Amino acid sequence: MTVRLYYQDPYVFHFRARVVASAACGDGFAVELDRTCFYPEGGGQPPDTGTLGGRLVLSVREEGTRVVHLVDGPLESDEVDGLVDEARRRDHMEHHTGQHLLSAAFLATLGTPTVSMHLGELDCTIDLTRPALSEDDAARVEDLVNRVIREDRSIRCFYPSLEELERLTLRKSPQVEENIRIVRVEGFDDSPCCGTHCPSTGRVGLVKVRRWEHYKGMTRVHFLCGGRALRDYQWKSAAVNRLAEKMSVKDQALEGRVMALLESHVELERAHRKLRAEMLTTGAPALLAAAKSLPDGTRLVLRRLPDGSTVEDLKTLADAVVREGRVVFAAGTASGKASLLFARSSDVTRDMAALLRACAGPAGGKGGGSPQLAQGGCPAERLDEVLATVERELGSSDS
Ligand SMILES: [Zn+2]
Repeated sequence: MTVRLYYQDPYVFHFRARVVASAACGDGFAVELDRTCFYPEGGGQPPDTGTLGGRLVLSVREEGTRVVHLVDGPLESDEVDGLVDEARRRDHMEHHTGQHLLSAAFLATLGTPTVSMHLGELDCTIDLTRPALSEDDAARVEDLVNRVIREDRSIRCFYPSLEELERLTLRKSPQVEENIRIVRVEGFDDSPCCGTHCPSTGRVGLVKVRRWEHYKGMTRVHFLCGGRALRDYQWKSAAVNRLAEKMSVKDQALEGRVMALLESHVELERAHRKLRAEMLTTGAPALLAAAKSLPDGTRLVLRRLPDGSTVEDLKTLADAVVREGRVVFAAGTASGKASLLFARSSDVTRDMAALLRACAGPAGGKGGGSPQLAQGGCPAERLDEVLATVERELGSSDS
């Protein structure tokens, strides 16, 4: 049985211990000590890392009453110094304690229990048994949690007798049947848990709900605590300040300004599309007038639109041209790679999809569509070659 020093004082990160057992295990060595400050994975809290006798501790797990450390090489002595990665453990304690407070606040404020939690390196979440969450409700919960933090209530852990246990109102059911450890946030929450926690709520510093989403019929709430919540606030503040300065507004006015900008952007895009369409349509008669005549009397309009034009532009122009009878339209535009669009008037029998494949294929392009309208692409530098092939193909045709 390993003595778990982290239960006596979770703020001790350096200790000395005797090696009880050591054996090769996978890529490293599994080491058992008479006592340890290393917390093994459990209760949703990730394991500690650090060093043991100068070796890296890669992970720590619980095996019955023993704590097993996986280190990256053999230990050279029977007595070793252990050094827990303090920043990582403090972060876990802030988040684990913060999660207790947050789950208790969701239950107290909205009557919603937490069914699962995840404390990750980047993201911490709890899953709530409710299909949705309003901004107001999230803010009320967050207010309560942070009030409890500012009240700096004591947090203590104890092992009640079965009689005592029956009198307690626990936030969730214990997952073990004996040696049930209760974490009590004074006057706020009693919950069974085996993790390491801060000794008072003030040590959590801050709990921030970042966002939430619908997840398997429930609501998954993403949150951060303590130092990580502060860093999240720091980068967001910096981003808001930079944007507000760029737009010459106060930070509180930024959202309104961005919304107005998005609206005007949609308007401008609509107007821009309309103008482009008008411009392209206006140019259609000139294109038809300058069209080549094919042997069967059909006109061929070949056009390369300026770089940066869109497939939408090609379609608009095609519509305006093939409205006239006896015409085949083949056009392209290059922006990164080239887009192709072939179309014909309804009184021409030529298959546009087949024509596009025949012309673009040899130039490394491809495409498809119907006999009336086909669309495809080819390497930008071979667009002119593809359009020239159209003329050759149709010029030699006797259809
Ligand atoms: Zn806990």
